[in-house]
Formats: sequence, C-alpha cells, structure tokens
Amino acid sequence: MSNKQQILKVAINVPIHRLFDYLANDESFSVGQYVTIPFGRRKIIGVIYSVSFHSDIHPSKLKKVINVDPEIIFDEEMFKLLNFVSEYYHYPIGQTIMSVVPSRLKKNLNQLRKFELIYQATPKLTNDFINQLPIRQLRIRKVAEAILNKDTRQSDLMKIVSNWTECIEQLEAFQCIKSKKYEPAIDFSKVDKPILNSEQKKVIKDILEKKGYQASLIFGITGSGKTEVYLQLIENFLNNSKSQALILVPEINLTPQLENRFHKRFPGKKLVSLHSHLTDVERLDNWRKAKSGVADIIIGTRLAIFTPIPFLKVIIIDEEHDASFKQQDGLRYHARDVAMVRAKNINIPIVLGTATPSLESWHNATRIDFKYNFLKLTQRAVKDAQLPEVRTVLVDDKTKHGISRLLVDSINERLERKEQSLIFINRRGFAPVLFCPLCSWTSECKKCSTKLVVHRKTNRLKCHHCGHDQKMISQCPSCDNLNLRPLGLGTQKIEEVLNSFFPKATILRVDRDTTRSKKSLSLLYERMNNRDIDILVGTQMLAKGHDFPFLTLVGVIDTDNALYSPDFRAPEKLFSQLMQVSGRSGRSNIKGEVLIQTAFPNNPVFDGLKKHDYAIFARSLLNERKQMNLPPFGFTAILRVEAKYLKYAERFINSAAKHAESLSNSVIVYDPVRPSIEKLKGFERFQLFVQADARADLQKLLRKWVIYLREYPLANRVKWSLDVDPIEF
Ligand code: ADP
Ligand code: ZN
Ligand code: ZN
Repeated sequence: MSNKQQILKVAINVPIHRLFDYLANDESFSVGQYVTIPFGRRKIIGVIYSVSFHSDIHPSKLKKVINVDPEIIFDEEMFKLLNFVSEYYHYPIGQTIMSVVPSRLKKNLNQLRKFELIYQATPKLTNDFINQLPIRQLRIRKVAEAILNKDTRQSDLMKIVSNWTECIEQLEAFQCIKSKKYEPAIDFSKVDKPILNSEQKKVIKDILEKKGYQASLIFGITGSGKTEVYLQLIENFLNNSKSQALILVPEINLTPQLENRFHKRFPGKKLVSLHSHLTDVERLDNWRKAKSGVADIIIGTRLAIFTPIPFLKVIIIDEEHDASFKQQDGLRYHARDVAMVRAKNINIPIVLGTATPSLESWHNATRIDFKYNFLKLTQRAVKDAQLPEVRTVLVDDKTKHGISRLLVDSINERLERKEQSLIFINRRGFAPVLFCPLCSWTSECKKCSTKLVVHRKTNRLKCHHCGHDQKMISQCPSCDNLNLRPLGLGTQKIEEVLNSFFPKATILRVDRDTTRSKKSLSLLYERMNNRDIDILVGTQMLAKGHDFPFLTLVGVIDTDNALYSPDFRAPEKLFSQLMQVSGRSGRSNIKGEVLIQTAFPNNPVFDGLKKHDYAIFARSLLNERKQMNLPPFGFTAILRVEAKYLKYAERFINSAAKHAESLSNSVIVYDPVRPSIEKLKGFERFQLFVQADARADLQKLLRKWVIYLREYPLANRVKWSLDVDPIEF
C-alpha cells in the first residue's frame, strides 16, 4: 500500500525479526533518532531505522509516535555494522540495535539525568558563622562544618546527616556555600615515557607503515611492553587531525592502574571509559562524549565496540584471546570479530595483542597467505626481568590436604625472604559438594542437574547456576547418616589448609566474591605492593592484568578437570590461564617459580609452558583441531533449546535437527544432546551442534534454518537461541 505519508520504520526490543511501522507526529525526525511509541498498552523506546512511503498495514491502522528525541544516536556507519551483526549472528535487527543502546536511554530516563554536585564554602562560611547558629540546629552545623573543612560531595553528605538537602538549602540561602558538578580527580602528574627497545620500535613502525585497514597481531610475552606499544601507537594516531582511538580490554583488566597509566600519558587528551562498574548515568555521559568526538581515547570492555566514534582511527584489543569478549546471552557477539568488521568497514588498522593468542588469531597470523601482520615481542621490557621456571609436581591420593610437600617448602622459603606467593585454584566456594561416605548421596539442586555448593562461612548450600540457596543439611536424606563430608577443594578450603600450615603468614583469598568492586581490587594492589600480604589464594580473577613485583612463587593447585573436559577449548583456556599466572611471578628483577600440581605431568600442555613456548603448544593443538575440522579450520554454531517440559524441548530439537539435515549437504548436523547441565532453573535443556568447512556454507544453512525455527508451531513453548562461533559448550 502506498501513500504520501512518511512511515517510520522503527527498531524495537521484541524477539520478532522485523521493523515496526509508525506515523510521524508533528516533530521533525531523521534516521538514527530515538522515539517513544505506543506498543500494545505500553509506551516503549525504539530507534528510527529508516523512513519510507510504504507500509503493508493500512495507514488508518498505524499509530503515531508519541515523541521524537532530537539526539541522533546511530549514524550510517553504526547501522551498517549493526545490520551485519544482526545477519551474522541471526539475531532480530530490533533486538540487535536495542542491545547496544545505552540502558539509560532505553529506560527513557534521559530527562531525569542528574550530576552529582560538590559543595564549597564561600567566604561567608566561617567558624564564627557556625558558632552563632542555634545549638538545636545540630544538623546544619554538622553539614556546615564538613563543607568548611573540605569540599564535600552529595554522596558524602548523605553519610553525615539524613536530611542533608534541607541543610544545603538553608546554607545556600545564607550564601555560605556554592556548588558545582563533581568530577573525579585525576592524577595528571607527568611520567617519563620509556625509550622503546628495538623490538617495540619495529612493531610500531610495521603498524604505522601500512595505511588503511590492516589487522596486526602483537604476540608478546607478559611484561614485554605491549601496553607501552599501544600508548605510543595511540600517541601517533592522535597527533594527526581530529582522531579518536578505541581500546578494548577484558573487564577484569580495566583497573584504575591501567586507566591511570593512560591518563598520565595523555594529560591533554580526553579519556573516557566504558564498563559495567559505571552507573547508567556515567556510562551514558561517556558514551555521548565518544559519540560527539569530545573523547579522544575510549577505553572499554566488550560492549564498547558498539559505541559511535565518528573520528575513529585505530582499534586496539588487548588480551584478544580473552573469553570475556564473547557475549554469552542475548546478542551473542564476539567483540574481537565485530571489531575486525568495523575496522574493515571504515578502513582503519586494528591491533590485537596477547601473550597467548586465540588459536583463531594465531592461525590467521601464521598461515602462509599472511592474513595478519604478525609481530613479536620476545623480551621482557624491564631489564633483567626473567621468565619464571615452570615445574610440574605429581599429586596423588597420598598428597595431604591437596598441597604437596614441595609446594609447602617453597612457600616457606618465600616467607623467610619476605617474598610473596600466589596459590591459584580454579574453583569457587568451599568444597563443591556435600557427600555421604556411606551411601554416596550428594547434594543436588532440585531445579538444575548440578550439585549444590557448600558455603561454610554462611553455613549454606547454594546452586551456582540458578541461585538456589538453602540451610546446610546435617543428616543424609537417603540413609540418615550424620557424618556428611564435603568433597573436593575450594578456595576457602585451601585457605584453611594454608592457615594451618602457615599460622603466622598473612593470607588473603581473592575470588569473585571478594573482588566485585574496583575499590577492593585497587586496595588489594596496594596491600600487595606494601608487602602486607604473604600469600594470595585466588581463582582466575587473579590470572590477568596485575603486576606484583614481590610475587615470586605461583602454585597451581587443581588443573586436571580442564585437561579432560568435553569442551574442546578447555586446554587452550587452561594454557593461557597458566601462562598468564606464570607471568605474574618474577616481574621485577627477582626470578620467579611456578609449581603446577597435577596427576598427569606428561600432558603436552605442560611442555609448552615449561619452555614458555606458545608455538609448541599451538602447533599440537592446531593439528588436533585440523583433524577434527574444528575452529579455526571449521565453522560451528550451536542451537540451544530449553522448555519447562522435556517433551517439548525434545520434539523441537529433533525437528530442528531433521530440518537442518534437509537443508544442506555441506554442513554436518550432529545429534541433539543434553548439555552438561541438563536442567537449569527448572528448564529442560538440549543442544545441537552444526559444523561446516566453509563459513559461507554455514551461514547459508543458518539463514534458512532460523526462518524455519521462528515459524515452527512449538516455538512459543520453548526458548531457543542460536550461538554462532560459540566458545562454550
Ligand atoms: P605488557 O603490556 O606486555 O605486559 P607493559 O607495557 O605493561 O607490558 O610493560 C611492562 C613493564 O615494562 C611496565 O612497567 C612498563 O612501564 C615497562 N616498559 C615497557 N616498555 C619499556 C621500555 N621500552 N623501557 C623500559 N621500560 C619499559
Ligand atoms: Zn547417605
Ligand atoms: Zn539450581
């Protein structure tokens, strides 16, 4: 149907693979603006995707937009990228777009946006003034004293008195105080830029030499000066006409230390960060600074790849192998891969850096047809810093409390020398499972097919998958035995064992539970540097990003489950984790040592580690992958299904499998399987793995397949999702 009226095609957050038509109101509009629209009985936010004169719906039935916001949030470049992402990951365009709109805008709270204020004393605020205030105005006195003492933020006033706003109003009426927007203080003290070594110089020269799109992989051991290379590269790019640089880092690496390093190096430049520790307001603020071109340097985690950056001249991805670049729900994108497409679209260089490349990047960088610029940093940047010695220690049933004699002795040596040790363990909570030695009963979650984890400090049993939380059981439900025992070793258990072995040492446990906030991380950093801590016990949270100069011993407790995992990426993850952990030791001029406890000391993973040779390891793993046609040689996707009733999940996945088989001869469709957690949060789960030699064949199949899946009659009884290039199984 055609008419003269302009129809707005609006992208909204609903799981339907199309745009929605609306009539314009009287306001002017353009593509990329966001609008408030009536949707059913609700008012929601959408983004104008395009404008047309055509609609399949009769104009009399179309509704008008309620409000058009003047801010254009996505430009043509962003739409191009988002279209690609929607098609490649087979995720509805509306949901794709709305996944990357700052949540503050989505909630339509734009108008309510506030800054935090900081209050300062004017000359009228004196001790005399405070003293003449009536005694009973105790609260005003307190607030006035605080502000006279030093400039005070709103959030601090809240801690002083409850009704601080009233007090402020009164003091303002007396003209005793004034306010301004609070901006966190930044340390701009000048730092010296080190003189690059010859390897670093070569890397920078090679990257700057080529113009336009070029992917480079900097393969540099920990401490080889990769970050220094990024800094000097960025400096080069920012020297030209209006330019912006984007640096993506794993969430855990975006520490105040790293931000400081950038701030200090670029005192005259505007730097903003984008990560999940920011409030919605801060995030929107920083996002807008990037979009308007005000920010010169944008440093962020995975989602930052979708920030509009009009003068973007270079993208850098630190720790490119890190799994956190892959989004694991909703829009399941890989930020590194999206970044590659974005760089190509706008013809700019992209630089990946890591000590342990993903096998995909390693393959791209080392293959004969030279897809990437392959650059190496083989020396540690700080003089005399040496790589740690890596050894394996056999553990078996006779090893007491999970810690070998050798490890205990080595820790003792460190304590005597006032050096530090890190005990690395890849699990959370105390003893994963409650176990009955008489009848072998174990504590299982009723909603999930996983075990409940014992949390000793709170004396509770918790499911780490669905969050189920209950009181500890003291008697076996199946045989009434009163002697239930925890199985396995968790960080808390190791902490207890260490405490008993080293009663005088200061031991600190670090895991997801204790390092949620950035503040606790920076406190940890400080305490380590002051040598307040002797032994750190940690999970993977500690594996990256930190530099502890007095840490000279790393003990790795428990790696064997990763060696024999059904997930074909597990050895790769283990290797990079161990390599990173090893990098933690001996970074200044004291030689470090790494002791890996294992029941399988002959596993080839450890050969590469002992020689600090990633190439050895990569070669053996790539051979395996090639034989099995797995990435980077083959291309894969997973269809995941869950339903309240097993029969629906089963019927859906079986039909999906059958249909996929009928669609293509060049794609292997495996049998549907139950994932390792068969039931999650009350939902029965299945998954189906498909694999092809060529990316194009896989994409062709997926395109037809999703149409079928979307229209399948059972589709509303199940929840399904497609994961393209999955990294977890
Ligand atoms: P990476 O990012 O590879 O771990 P960094 O860039 O953080 O390495 O460098 C490790 C340490 O060496 C840092 O303290 C850094 O300041 C220092 N460094 C880097 N390059 C040089 C250089 N050319 N000369 C002296 N020190 C350097
Ligand atoms: Zn029992
Ligand atoms: Zn559960």
